[in-house]
Amino acid sequence: MNKRAYNFNAGPAALPLTVLERAQAEFVDFRESGMSIMEMSHRGAIYESVHNEAQERLLSLLGNPKGYKVLFVQGGASTQFAMIPMNLISEGQVGSYVMTGSWADKAFKEAKLVGGAHVAASSEDKKFVAIPELSSIKAADNAAYLHVTSNETIEGTQFAEFPDAGSIPLIADMSSDILCRPIDVNQFGMIYAGAQKNLGPSGVTVVIAKEELLAESPSNIPTIMRYSTHYKNNSLYNTPPSFSVYMVNEVLKWIEEQGGLAGIQSKNLEKAGLLYDHIDGSDGFYSGVAEKSSRSIMNVTFRMQSEELEKRFVKAAELEGFVGLKGHRSVGGLRASIYNAVPYESVKALSDFMNHFRQTQG
Ligand code: PMP
Repeated sequence: MNKRAYNFNAGPAALPLTVLERAQAEFVDFRESGMSIMEMSHRGAIYESVHNEAQERLLSLLGNPKGYKVLFVQGGASTQFAMIPMNLISEGQVGSYVMTGSWADKAFKEAKLVGGAHVAASSEDKKFVAIPELSSIKAADNAAYLHVTSNETIEGTQFAEFPDAGSIPLIADMSSDILCRPIDVNQFGMIYAGAQKNLGPSGVTVVIAKEELLAESPSNIPTIMRYSTHYKNNSLYNTPPSFSVYMVNEVLKWIEEQGGLAGIQSKNLEKAGLLYDHIDGSDGFYSGVAEKSSRSIMNVTFRMQSEELEKRFVKAAELEGFVGLKGHRSVGGLRASIYNAVPYESVKALSDFMNHFRQTQG
């Protein structure tokens, strides 16, 4: 096999090599069925066992919180931006949103279209380089829920702790940091994430929610958009993205092998620490975008003194096998996405490359 790239893509992103190899080994003949998992009915016993196993494994990694159910749906996290207000906002209510950056804004705009949206706190005045103080976050009196984006993939900020939503559910878009660290699921009414960063390939979106939020949905919204449809049918109302679900199950097995969420967290802290220390120790050659207390351990965003220099950096990095270091087109700059599956060796190689680049530009 050719050398694998140093993959810092923001999503779809690096998957564990062992998972890819296992999937390759059983690609053509899954569990001696004489076919690939992609070729079999989603109503058959083999697929269903994978589907159920993935749900159980996800809950188990999260400490088996009581009263929660896992859904596998499609349409990405972007569809959840619409499904959440459609399902959960009743007449006269709004969704309250913590505005932390680009993805929070997208979620907010969908709620505005569908039910009604309120700003519970915002860091727009700081150009979204920080997470608002938890004490400043106030849901509206008529809020159906409080929504946060636990990790802003584009700006590179992350909640270290979560606000207390009181009697309403706290809902978190964890698309870019799900399973990167232990969390107390009981704080949340609902957690959702597109799979393509920390969970597997694109195609499946995971929703983990209190059953009471899923069991009953308004009957005036389309059937496929109701949580209750997926809840009552164990996410098999229609054809699920079966290969993606299978891959998620394999990634979850890999996370277990890494020592679960505590094991993953310590690896992630080590990787992020290496890059941030390098940035902070570069005498301003590289500068971090996010305020230190709001820094993401998944998306490390940084800048250089000029756009011209940044362009040269990306180009030189590409020649050395580093992929995905350009910042999102909406904000520019540089970004290294170091999700769970990005190995320490890749991050060390990047840190060494950054050092080398700095020495040679001096
Ligand atoms: N939320 C966050 C935090 C994201 O990073 C992304 C994708 N980059 C989305 C939502 C949108 O996800 P999808 O493409 O699965 O709709």
